[in-house]
Amino acid sequence: MPAAAAVDPVVVGDSEQGRPIRAVRVGPRDAKRIVLVVGAIHGTELAGRAIADRLRRVRPPRGVAFLLVHDANPDGAAAGTRWNANGVDLNRNFPTAWEPIGRPFDTYHSGPAPLSEPEARSLAALIRDVRPRVTVWYHQHMRLVDPGGGDRFLERLYARRSRLPYRAIPPLPGTATRWQNGAFRGDSAFVVELPAGRLDSASVRRHVRAVTGVARAIAPPTVVRTPIPFGAERKRQMRAYARRHYGIDGFKLRQPRVIVEHFTASNSFASAFGTFAANAPDVELGELPGVCAHFLIARDGAVHRLVPPSIMCRHTVGLNWTAIGIEHVGTSDAQVLGNRRQLRASLRLTRSLQGAYGIATRNVIGHAESLESPFHRERVARLRRQTHGDFQPVAAGRYRRALDRMAAPSSLR
Ligand SMILES: [Zn+2]
Repeated sequence: MPAAAAVDPVVVGDSEQGRPIRAVRVGPRDAKRIVLVVGAIHGTELAGRAIADRLRRVRPPRGVAFLLVHDANPDGAAAGTRWNANGVDLNRNFPTAWEPIGRPFDTYHSGPAPLSEPEARSLAALIRDVRPRVTVWYHQHMRLVDPGGGDRFLERLYARRSRLPYRAIPPLPGTATRWQNGAFRGDSAFVVELPAGRLDSASVRRHVRAVTGVARAIAPPTVVRTPIPFGAERKRQMRAYARRHYGIDGFKLRQPRVIVEHFTASNSFASAFGTFAANAPDVELGELPGVCAHFLIARDGAVHRLVPPSIMCRHTVGLNWTAIGIEHVGTSDAQVLGNRRQLRASLRLTRSLQGAYGIATRNVIGHAESLESPFHRERVARLRRQTHGDFQPVAAGRYRRALDRMAAPSSLR
């Protein structure tokens, strides 16, 4: 049995009447990707609290932590009102598109100013502090998932898993989701409108599965560091190579703009690793440093990082100055694309790198497409048309379409 996930109390703040806003963080303390769940913000719409509470006992996927706010408006819940104790609708009190609405205890009263209310201030501070990749805000009772302007893939995934319709409510002034999606690019916040009344336990479980589904979609790939030797001598050789082929005086890979997918033309991780580690002149061009790749993905889907992407690696003539190379152990495009575990690991890794470096999907290419890349450049005339046959356009196209069916890369930063 794996050990239970760490559950840590989190200080969020106090309500107007001094009630604590309770929250816990579930999952590894070093997880960088946070899913924030807010059980309630209107004191008359409390059903989502059961989902936030149930998630305390759920282990998030590796690399992800849940941040669970039981209730952002404990005074409203205690009084049985929509508002906080000042008669403010907290979900009209956030700074984006805030406008004055009504007076205290009017249904949608927005408060005297943006973030005038301690509850909204506390939540805003928490969000600024932890930068959740995804935030789910529970309301009632319209039975829908409202596109908030963030990642539609994640919203749709939630809607599908929870079996709620995916349908837009016209944008409202001063809502938390509007502020988050506007202020924090790449993060994604949306509203889930639950049905009226209390949720039965089957519904709670369904929503827990929807949250964990979203968490899995943003989970980072598992990468094992299996470095090949890349000492001072090899760096010196790489620098000389970069000078010869690109007119660049350095071995550092600055701002990678392309990801090139390869296969090794062998069936063994060990032989591919051995070739890359050897730093021998390659048989084809007879140059140094030896060929390599930043990542090598085994047949079982294990992702090995051989070289940090901050260093140039010789994997694609014309593109080594700006491309991260991903090698797959395998002997054909079809073999790699047909291996579910290897392909899934590869897509997840590529998506994560796209997010980390802001690389567009059109610049995720197969080695066989290298000459068509707008980033291709080569000073050595006899090599200007040199490329390889791995990852032909048909295969690379399939690979890119599979990327487009995943969460947006910004969600995987
Ligand atoms: Zn290749």
